[in-house]
Amino acid sequence: EAKRTGRGRLVFYDGSMDAAARGRAQVQADLRNAIDERQFFMVYQPQFDAFDRVRGVEAMVRWRHPARGMVPPEEFIPVAEQSGLIVPLGKIVIDMVCADLVALREQQLALPYVSMDVSLRQLTDAAMVEDVQEALQRHGLSTSDIEFEVSESTAMVGQAGKETATLKKLSALAFRIAIDDFGSGTSSMGRLLDLKVDKLKIDGMFVQAIGQPNFNPALLELMIDLANRLGVKSVAEGVDTLEQVAWLRKAGCQMLQGNFFAKPMTHGQLLNWLLMQSSDTSFASGIWKATQ
Ligand code: C2E
Ligand code: MG
Ligand code: MG
Repeated sequence: EAKRTGRGRLVFYDGSMDAAARGRAQVQADLRNAIDERQFFMVYQPQFDAFDRVRGVEAMVRWRHPARGMVPPEEFIPVAEQSGLIVPLGKIVIDMVCADLVALREQQLALPYVSMDVSLRQLTDAAMVEDVQEALQRHGLSTSDIEFEVSESTAMVGQAGKETATLKKLSALAFRIAIDDFGSGTSSMGRLLDLKVDKLKIDGMFVQAIGQPNFNPALLELMIDLANRLGVKSVAEGVDTLEQVAWLRKAGCQMLQGNFFAKPMTHGQLLNWLLMQSSDTSFASGIWKATQ
């Protein structure tokens, strides 16, 4: 049995494949086509400091499939990683991010940096550093405009792997580096100290536990304390409620990101939102939101 996908690509279904594998094969074929046709756009979620000021945004890729509609990242990012398609997808992502940042700056909107996720597979690609430098040059941006978020599990792989070499090159070039999903993997403290990182992003899973019946504050407190001791910024992600905001700020967490403050927005929405922000300083404040 074969099924025709976009641009006449054929996916052959083997009778022994289970439904999940068939689904993955289909997603992979569709993804290849989507990369050719650039069916992607970025959304941006602001990150706030202790004074409710926007310090930067995290860029997250979105895929609008012509037949299926929006496909969630949980579904296609793992397939892109396994198939290596994350490399050409990553190039599209950096290009879109640069173009969007330039457009914001043209509106005189000051945005210190854009943060973007990179997978292990992207860091092991020999051409990665050159590719991002080329994109920055083409758009007239500098390395300090971009932050790379590397998942904790990625950052902690092999001692002297290619990904470590790439991370060191990136930080030597003054790119910012954040450790993403911190607390969700197995950290080696030694490796953490070895890498020059700017931020530890505490996994949303810990944030969402705040105020829950079995909430144990010890781990969260430990992570915030670790960041402070290392002289690295602590960032909580997935902040959804005022209770979480209050707890995290009291515990000394330096930056917050999540739907409580602002949901991920398209480039156009972000532009309007930042314009409104700059004309009304109380607009983005959590206090403002909580009292409306
Ligand atoms: P991540 O980097 O940890 O991103 C945080 C996720 O939390 C995002 O999911 C975001 O939409 C979601 N989120 C934000 N605020 C809240 C909140 O208040 N509550 C809750 N429950 N969730 C919130 P998203 O966009 O679906 O992305 C999922 C993952 O896919 C990302 O996790 C990242 O690992 C990966 N990803 C997304 N975009 C890219 C990309 O361009 N490149 C690569 N390599 N990976 C990406
Ligand atoms: Mg991230
Ligand atoms: Mg994360």
